[in-house]
Amino acid sequence: MAKRPKLIAGNWKMNGTRAEAKTFLDALSKLKPEMRPGRQLLICPPATLIAEMAGPLAGLNVQVGGQNCHPGVNGAFTGDISAGMIRDAGADYVIVGHSERRAMHGETDQLVHVKALAARRHDLIPIICVGETLAEREDGHAQSVVRKQVRDSVPDGIEGIALVVAYEPVWAIGTGRAATLEDIATMHHVIREALSGKSDDVECGLILYGGSVKPDNAAGILAVEGVDGALIGGASLAAADFMAIADAV
Ligand code: PEP
Repeated sequence: MAKRPKLIAGNWKMNGTRAEAKTFLDALSKLKPEMRPGRQLLICPPATLIAEMAGPLAGLNVQVGGQNCHPGVNGAFTGDISAGMIRDAGADYVIVGHSERRAMHGETDQLVHVKALAARRHDLIPIICVGETLAEREDGHAQSVVRKQVRDSVPDGIEGIALVVAYEPVWAIGTGRAATLEDIATMHHVIREALSGKSDDVECGLILYGGSVKPDNAAGILAVEGVDGALIGGASLAAADFMAIADAV
């Protein structure tokens, strides 16, 4: 099997002022995140903080990403930010299709697909989120829902480690109730299969787990076969928790 790095990615969502970013950076610099082969660290703050955090984070061996992008290049899209702008602000990654955007902004697989393409055109790595709701899981449709999301949201031809999918069961996000290790393993296998045919080296692509990853469950989750890292919401806001998860790799 291809050797894939583990990506530990923080999603700050709509949290973080400049003062809070400084507090985080000060705390992170005391923890001195080290560059380790096979491990990549990433923080996705609100767009207002990308440019400000990119330099200091780079000095701490951490990359920076956006949380969303518009699929277009520029134009009359008040309030939106293009992939090129996110790249220009210093980001290397961008999250697309997070379940909060799918649920609250009506984002479809087709829109997520074109956002991911826009990200690639601007040399950003899209982290393409998929995941079933509780009702879909309880109805026994979790796998078919996620298979369809992967089929329709993930563009063909994204090569190597630029192909990143995050499996985030909606019911596990922000609830303190992570999926079981068995369910994570099963769904990661389903996703890897669903990706086949989408790129020549699909085995190099990363599949992250997200949903209530915390310092105390990270080691178990990251050890599950097929889990190539984690997308972390709440626990990424505190430098100590973020690094405790990263050090569980
Ligand atoms: C997320 O929002 O992507 C997430 C996984 O959140 P949390 O870790 O807080 O569940």
